[in-house]
Amino acid sequence: MDRITISNLEVFAYHGVLKEENALGQKFLVSAELYTDIQEAADGDDITKSINYASVCKTIEAFLKEHTYKLIETTADRLAVHLLKTYGRIEKIRLEIKKPWAPILMTLDTVSVIVERGWHQAYLGIGSNLGDKEANLNEAVRLLNEDEDCIVKQVSSFRITEPVGGVEQDDFLNGAVYVKTLKSAHALLQLIGKIEKALKRERIIHWGPRTIDLDILFYDDEVIQTKDLTIPHPEAANRRFVLDPMCDIAPWLRHPVLGDTMLQLKDKL
Ligand code: ADP
Ligand code: MG
Repeated sequence: MDRITISNLEVFAYHGVLKEENALGQKFLVSAELYTDIQEAADGDDITKSINYASVCKTIEAFLKEHTYKLIETTADRLAVHLLKTYGRIEKIRLEIKKPWAPILMTLDTVSVIVERGWHQAYLGIGSNLGDKEANLNEAVRLLNEDEDCIVKQVSSFRITEPVGGVEQDDFLNGAVYVKTLKSAHALLQLIGKIEKALKRERIIHWGPRTIDLDILFYDDEVIQTKDLTIPHPEAANRRFVLDPMCDIAPWLRHPVLGDTMLQLKDKL
């Protein structure tokens, strides 16, 4: 991907573990690689379609002066997230913060921390078959979008689906949601657990009725297999109530294990 880079921007600030560092301050050098697609800006020779590096430099300086952290680890992590949220065109960032004056009573060029942070693309399946189903789905989407690390980009239409699994129960209303998120897959699982709880999901019978069910279908093109998380979701390729709404929002998306697109998987059902 294209990149805009900033090298060794000098900022005087007060981060440090020692109280002398917090009182006297010192020089920090910030380097950033901003991963972004510059084609549209290049084609139109138009700065409004790019990331204004002068503005990014001002934002970095203001952030480093407004906050005081003990660790440059924390400083780099928070600054990277702040830049990703401030500039929608940054997909990923590699940020290095150097301390050339690190007070260790020895001579060195610099000490530094490098972090890489970026937006992840997640697709979630949502379903409800208890209470006001449509309101439950809308509320789940609202709570997702309300999280500071998530932006809901697309929501499919909702479809009525007959329940699977043999338990006698009401029809489901199902949909799919595309979310951009700064969270790891496990942190996203925690968030959907919190949302399920907030919507008072009742987990009485396995496969039974629930006010809300949120599942992570896909997370980038990652394949994850841990005790509490399987991605892609094992049922994603076999369920019409997953593939129909997925075909609304991303028919071209490829299943990272099977290699088929959502549309191909639907045709195979
Ligand atoms: P289901 O969605 O299969 O009907 P639950 O919603 O009750 O069942 O999920 C049970 C557990 O499934 C969760 O506690 C979670 O740890 C685990 N799980 C594994 N992979 C996923 C995934 N991709 N998305 C959501 N939950 C998952
Ligand atoms: Mg679930």
